[in-house]
Amino acid sequence: METPVVKIDNLVKRYNDKLAVDHFSLSIREGEILGLLGPNGSGKTTTINCLLSILKYDKGTIEIFGQKMAPDRTDLKQEIGVVMQNVAVVDALTVYENVDFFCGLYIRDKARRKDLVRQAIEMTGLTEYVKYRPSKLSGGLLRRLNIACGIAHKPKLIIFDEPTVAVDPQSRNAILDGIRKLNEEGATIIYTSHYMEEVEDLCSRIVIMDKGRNVASGTAAELKASLRNRETITVEMRDSTEQLIDGIRQINHVYDVKKSGEKLIIRCDGGSRNLIHILNYLMENKVDFGRVNSTLPTLNDVFLEITGKELKD
Ligand code: ADP
Ligand code: MG
Repeated sequence: METPVVKIDNLVKRYNDKLAVDHFSLSIREGEILGLLGPNGSGKTTTINCLLSILKYDKGTIEIFGQKMAPDRTDLKQEIGVVMQNVAVVDALTVYENVDFFCGLYIRDKARRKDLVRQAIEMTGLTEYVKYRPSKLSGGLLRRLNIACGIAHKPKLIIFDEPTVAVDPQSRNAILDGIRKLNEEGATIIYTSHYMEEVEDLCSRIVIMDKGRNVASGTAAELKASLRNRETITVEMRDSTEQLIDGIRQINHVYDVKKSGEKLIIRCDGGSRNLIHILNYLMENKVDFGRVNSTLPTLNDVFLEITGKELKD
């Protein structure tokens, strides 16, 4: 079998009494964009810091490229790029000099480094800003610089820890496109976020994290397929009688009907024409209704079903 790029087994990390990572296991194959999705405080950053041997942990094993990771494994660290949640660049250096500095920690050859720095600057869309100092950059550009510094040496494994938090839409798109490009060029990616749409868009596989545990994993489609819910139809309605609600419950694929204010929330467990069946039923029974809308399940529904709480977006 192919050696996983990352293999975490039963990782446990406590901060004093606080259990931050709870018997967490994860295996990542080459070429994946693995999304680590979890709310704030679920243990994503702690897991990443353990993975990098920046933080001591209480239990578990961590292998990278099939070898045991440890603080002195500079050979393994060479092949890892890290883009931390908190921007870490040198204020006294320009954009160009920053990327060159961080790349220079790994790449000695000057000509090769020049080429790599140029590529990183282009990929992150910083070409116009090479002469700027970090203090002159907007939040989004600063995040892009942070990324350019972390990836310029073309590592095989790249870890992004919430790279799009508080970033403007233009920079966000530049960042996500850049990550896709790095992956196409062969890098394996770990991407942590609490934004479900982003993770769903970007990642080839998703691990949902809650209270330090790996609570579910799979592709977005697989995770949603595990839900009973396939479609939720909301109908605005002033007066809905119990009789009407019972009638709707009898419609094929409807498994739950709830009244919520002046709305009926109708959950369906399959079927492709639920909306038509429900509308037909309402019209046949001459029910007066307002707006109607249909939504498909999201990763929030998956999170809700597993943990009983919302994954706020
Ligand atoms: P995430 O990155 O998913 O937001 P973290 O890994 O930062 O989560 O935090 C996981 C848990 O550990 C949280 O409850 C957090 O408050 C706690 N924690 C994180 N860092 C420390 C620390 N240095 N000391 C004590 N508790 C910490
Ligand atoms: Mg974090």
